[in-house]
Amino acid sequence: MNDLQKEILELKNSRKAIILAHNYVTGDLQEIADFVGDSLELSRRAAEVKAEVIVVCGVRFMAETAKLLSPEAKVLLPNPDAGCPMADMADPDEIKKARAAHPGAVVCAYVNTTAATKAEVDICCTSGNAEKIIRSIPKDKEILFLPDRNLGANISLQEKREMILWEGCCPIHDAVTPEMIRAARAAHPTAEIIIHPECKSECVALADRALSTGGMLSYIKTSGKKEFVVATECGILFRLRNENPDCTFYELPGGLLCRDMKKITLENLRDCLVNLAPEVTIPPETAKRAVNSIRAMLAVK
Ligand code: 13P
Ligand code: SF4
Repeated sequence: MNDLQKEILELKNSRKAIILAHNYVTGDLQEIADFVGDSLELSRRAAEVKAEVIVVCGVRFMAETAKLLSPEAKVLLPNPDAGCPMADMADPDEIKKARAAHPGAVVCAYVNTTAATKAEVDICCTSGNAEKIIRSIPKDKEILFLPDRNLGANISLQEKREMILWEGCCPIHDAVTPEMIRAARAAHPTAEIIIHPECKSECVALADRALSTGGMLSYIKTSGKKEFVVATECGILFRLRNENPDCTFYELPGGLLCRDMKKITLENLRDCLVNLAPEVTIPPETAKRAVNSIRAMLAVK
């Protein structure tokens, strides 16, 4: 452990803080976090923790979700610029218009959305529970799924259920092409290819398994297989390699990097614990409505 990591742990204790980190942030942050997980695991943890201060090493929508679920806590995002481009692709006013056009539809939002968007929808989902959430919606209901057209299309195909899809996507996962998957298959013919469902359906069709980042971590532990091509953001390789030293992991040609996930650093994590800022706040009226769609998701068993 380096000096900065030690300093952060001391500050964390004196501030009675807890550090939640997403699987994509850099390894030096994952090493000192109290909990590392995917979006679903982070939201479950945020709902359970009893800390005065929650620091989210991830992107803004994750910190907002933590704030919605732990409203009494001070929630800090070490770099206020760490956003998710996909979260900005579903404008609350556009959702109101879409609702008016489809009055009976259940509106399901991927958790990668702003709190203002969550306030306009009925239920949230993550890549770790999307199938379960869609199955929980009565068959006779129309579904409007936003903002990720790729996740929506993948779930729609898997569940054999038509959905109205929003025109949003993750620019990083959307850039994966069938040629990249074919090239990885040719280069590593004995490896299993696991892919994130934010990738296009034609890429998912060429891979062996589509999983959330948390799903990838748990699948690999029990699969008995030893070689994997990992078609998602490179940050996950830190945990995959640490937790599975007997396995070999390959990236897609060129690799995948989310710049926003790399905006959190040991330095800005230390500074945010010193200053207890930048804090994530949500207008109370928005929070009151937004939390319902997350609670509706967490209630689906
Ligand atoms: P997971 O919930 O699978 O970790 O995905 C979050 C995300 O932002 C993927 O790009
Ligand atoms: Fe958003 Fe994509 Fe980055 Fe995930 S990888 S945080 S979906 S931009």
